[in-house]
Amino acid sequence: MNDKQLLRYSRHILLDAIGIEGQSRILETHALIIGAGGLGSPVALYLASAGIGKITLVDDDEVDFTNLQRQIMHTEARVGMAKADSGQQALRAINPEIDIIPLKQRLSGEALDALVASVDIVLDCTDNFATRHAINRACVHHKKPLVSGAAIRFDGQISVYDLRDDNSPCYHCLFPEGDDVDEVRCAVMGVFAPLTGIVGSMQAAEALKLAAGIGQSLNGRLLLLDSLEMEWRTVKFKKDEACAVCGPKGNGRSGEYLRQADANHESSPAVCHRG
Ligand SMILES: [Zn+2]
Repeated sequence: MNDKQLLRYSRHILLDAIGIEGQSRILETHALIIGAGGLGSPVALYLASAGIGKITLVDDDEVDFTNLQRQIMHTEARVGMAKADSGQQALRAINPEIDIIPLKQRLSGEALDALVASVDIVLDCTDNFATRHAINRACVHHKKPLVSGAAIRFDGQISVYDLRDDNSPCYHCLFPEGDDVDEVRCAVMGVFAPLTGIVGSMQAAEALKLAAGIGQSLNGRLLLLDSLEMEWRTVKFKKDEACAVCGPKGNGRSGEYLRQADANHESSPAVCHRG
């Protein structure tokens, strides 16, 4: 670490649990952030400010005027710009010393698979069920830790699936595919602005802990927030031994999962993660 880095990250280095060693590990980490919207904004801002050395920021959408209420990485001047590019500008302004790779595409199939294989941590900041399952499959296949967040109306969810551990549950263990009767289109749903900030900031905290190798992650625990009552609930869950993705017969361990993920992606409507 050079003198400027020692200064920039001094308040992390002062923390006994992080120190120079932990901050060095953070600097060596490549994080994949899928979705540069309400959750992706605080995730990307904190990971960049805290010195995650390499960030790949993926979003195929453009900044819309209605995004500005909660997607704090973007500005009114950048309405119409690709969210990945707008995000890169925001992150560069905060920390020009890290590597930021904007990707203007909807990740699926082999592109998603190759990208997940190349990173250390994956952050799911998307807003639809089909993409969440495709990301989970790739993370199971490549044994990558997945930090997942969701926010709709006043309800938030966050969990970690540390798939480096074979005994860890995956997203599919908790939310089986096809169990989508309650799903609703998010384009017409309201979202309480700071809710995305709360959930996204917690995703960033979990990712930084994983990168530094400190603390206890949310693996096996789902946190549920009712921000109207401002009450948290914790649901503990275990690996589903019969899981179709991470179980012994799971397609996460065969070459089949890519085709299935693509098929699901094409056929499923754009829906929100269930609240
Ligand atoms: Zn599973």
